[in-house]
Amino acid sequence: MSESLFEQASKRLADAIAHVDISEEAIECLKFPKASLQVSIPVRMDDGSLQVFQGYRVRYNDLRGPTKGGIRFHPDVNMDEVKSLAFWMTFKCAAVSLPFGGAKGGVAVDPKQLSKFELERLSRGYINAIADFIGADVDIPAPDVQTNATIIGWMINEYSNIQRKLCPAAITGKPLAMGGSLGRESATGMGAFFAIETLMPLLGMDRHQTTVAVQGFGNVGTAIADALGKAGYRVVAVSDSRGGIYAKQGLDIPSIIRYKQSTRNFQAVYCQDSVCSIVEHETISNQDLLKLDVDILIPAALENQITEHNATEIRAKYIFEIANGPVTPSADAILERRGIQVFPDILINAGGVTVSYFEWVQNRSGLYWTLEEVNARLKQSMVNETLKIWQIAQLKQISMRTAAYVHALTRLSEAISAKS
Ligand code: GLU
Repeated sequence: MSESLFEQASKRLADAIAHVDISEEAIECLKFPKASLQVSIPVRMDDGSLQVFQGYRVRYNDLRGPTKGGIRFHPDVNMDEVKSLAFWMTFKCAAVSLPFGGAKGGVAVDPKQLSKFELERLSRGYINAIADFIGADVDIPAPDVQTNATIIGWMINEYSNIQRKLCPAAITGKPLAMGGSLGRESATGMGAFFAIETLMPLLGMDRHQTTVAVQGFGNVGTAIADALGKAGYRVVAVSDSRGGIYAKQGLDIPSIIRYKQSTRNFQAVYCQDSVCSIVEHETISNQDLLKLDVDILIPAALENQITEHNATEIRAKYIFEIANGPVTPSADAILERRGIQVFPDILINAGGVTVSYFEWVQNRSGLYWTLEEVNARLKQSMVNETLKIWQIAQLKQISMRTAAYVHALTRLSEAISAKS
């Protein structure tokens, strides 16, 4: 039988344990989630029928603070996936020193098949079902794959209605008008950008000579492709779930973003040469994109994209994981042997939860920050933690992934010792 996603995720912990002075008891505390909840959400559809959806919320570990993590709407959502994502959130929050533990939630649904009103009823129904499990000092949800500020707006409104008072700090990623933070929407992409920019000189790379391929053109893929393009990197390929486009000379990202926003269909971009200022581009599949001969490959979609089946065909020099868990442990081993360096999700995509933390702080203090303040603090945190993890990797001669886990585990183990 093949390994579950959670078994794969747990291997990262096993690799790091060898490099940290940590007690058996502390390791035991991190092996299993603190609490897991599965709920049924009945939703009245527009045609009058009733459909029941399955929802999940896992609070993995709260040693360092209330648990924190997004909510995903995707047909493949299941308990194993949510548990793994909650595990990663625990290490991510510790790796960048946020006073949070890790959690994750999700609903097994294809949101593209629902009308706007059905989606609203589902979002409110999900919060209704998990309301006793979450809270500003307990567990704080946020957006993730295929959830956005509009959905979070319905959710926080539902939660506040249940509590009979405004509770803005209970969920982050809210619309600005409901207590959201400036810079939250682009935060994961910007955080990754600051990490990449910190690492480039250490890797001896020059951004003007660097080609990039980005898999995934959701909120996060769009933001990183745009930021890198504007900074002078050559973004040669982008894709969404249906496929992608490639142009050796580089793609004009702003025009692709505009076009995708207006049609919601990436395929149409291919047919309209006028949308791309570089007219000559090829259409490619997602699998082809992963195998392109580029300097930097950025998986920004879902987990398990680079596995033992395609790791031997990857030609990029560096992989920056913006998705959660896009490279499997067996692929990691193959890539390491082939000299391809992987920069791990728990560092590279930590910008999103970092600005979620800033949003939570702003909600609780009632003092709201400018975009410049948000981005300056995000930059400071991403640069500092990236450099610390880089130093651990150099000192111990281990991969950046293991170094990020060592860094997080050290902080988690301090919290365990302080409590016992
Ligand atoms: N979903 C994002 C992540 O995987 C953000 C979570 C949050 O803001 O709590 O990191």
